[in-house]
This record gives sequence, structure tokens and C-alpha cells, in this order.
Amino acid sequence: MLDADFFRRWMAAAAASVDREAERLTALDSAIGDADHGSNMQRGFTAVRAALEKEATDTPGAVLVLAGRQLISTVGGAAGPLYGTLLRRTGKALGDAAEVGEEQLAEALRAGVDGVMALGGAAPGDKTMIDALVPAVDALADGFAAARAAAEEGAVATTPLQARKGRASYLGERSIGHQDPGATSSALLVAALEEAAE
Ligand code: ADP
Ligand code: MG
Ligand code: MG
Repeated sequence: MLDADFFRRWMAAAAASVDREAERLTALDSAIGDADHGSNMQRGFTAVRAALEKEATDTPGAVLVLAGRQLISTVGGAAGPLYGTLLRRTGKALGDAAEVGEEQLAEALRAGVDGVMALGGAAPGDKTMIDALVPAVDALADGFAAARAAAEEGAVATTPLQARKGRASYLGERSIGHQDPGATSSALLVAALEEAAE
């Protein structure tokens, strides 16, 4: 079973990973966006880390709702509200259980990803974070390692796609041939789940 501590470790691992990969995320965003995805994610997850250190969270749902709220309020740019919605919706779907199973987490994450699609209007294949998140949720039944591999594959598979949502879509065909920054950061978020479980 996964308790609040597991979810705090997940957020801490995600923050550390975003710190390590910020330059790469910004480089990807400089090719098809406005070169701020790394700094956006860093600002957001720094706030998540600080909030989780300051405020007590005693359930998995409370951890994710607090984290989501930080992302929404601190990150200007598309990714903040989208990731914020992902974590908040997932947290709400977990309710106030003190511990949740992996199946329950998969179901809640599915609700979170549905929330991102409803907010941003992106579908699979539009070259967004959705292209990493949907395969990850689909693979979660086979465990965290399978979800990580699916998210990484999904992120890499955005390269030949033409962007249909977000800033990269303004480039039209010129968005082809570059990996999507948001799909790349989503793969980091999913990989951090496996780190939290170790
Ligand atoms: P901005 O584009 O406002 O500068 P970021 O650079 O932080 O924001 O985030 C860009 C990422 O957000 C993209 O790579 C993409 O994955 C994701 N994104 C943008 N718009 C959408 C959308 N409508 N639905 C899902 N994801 C989106
Ligand atoms: Mg950007
Ligand atoms: Mg921006």
C-alpha cells in the first residue's frame, strides 16, 4: 500500500529530477516553443517542495492536492495549470484514504489525465504531455517500471509528430522532428514514481 510518505517521496523525486533536467527541458522548448519549460517546471516544483515541507499532509490525496495547487499558482505558462490539474484531480480522486493501492492510484491518475485533456483539449497524437501520460497510465497495471518505460517511449514518439496544441502548434510543419518538452517532463514525473517506490 502507498501512504502519504510515498506521495511526498514521489514529489521530492520529481523536484530533484526537474532540477537535474531543467536545461534539457528548456533546450527542447527553445526548438519548438519559448525556451522556458525547464525554468517553469523548476519554479513549480521548488514551490511544491517548500509547501510540502511547511504544511502537514496526512493522506495521499492531500499531498497531491497541495502540490497541484502550488503548480497552478506559481507557474505561468501552459504547463502549470495542466500539471496542476493533473495532480489536483488525481488527489481528489484518491479521496481521504490514508493508504491506497497501485490499482487505485492508476484509476485516480486516469481521472487526472482526463482532467488535463478536458482543460487543454489535447488528444493523443497532438504532440503534448498527453502522449507520455496516457501510455504511462495504460501501463501502470504492470507496475511503475512499465509505466516509466511507456512514458519515455511516448515522449520519444512525439518527435515525428506535428504539434496540434500549445505554442509548438504555431510552427505548423516546422514542429516536426523535435521531441515535445512537456511529454519529456511527464516522463520524468512518471519515472519519479519508480524512485519513490525504491
Ligand atoms: P508555454 O508553452 O506556455 O511556455 P511550457 O513551455 O511550460 O508552457 O509548457 C509547454 C508544454 O506544455 C508543451 O511541450 C506541451 O507538452 C504542453 N502543452 C501545451 N499546451 C497543451 C495542451 N493544450 N494540452 C496538453 N499539453 C499542452
Ligand atoms: Mg514554453
Ligand atoms: Mg512560456
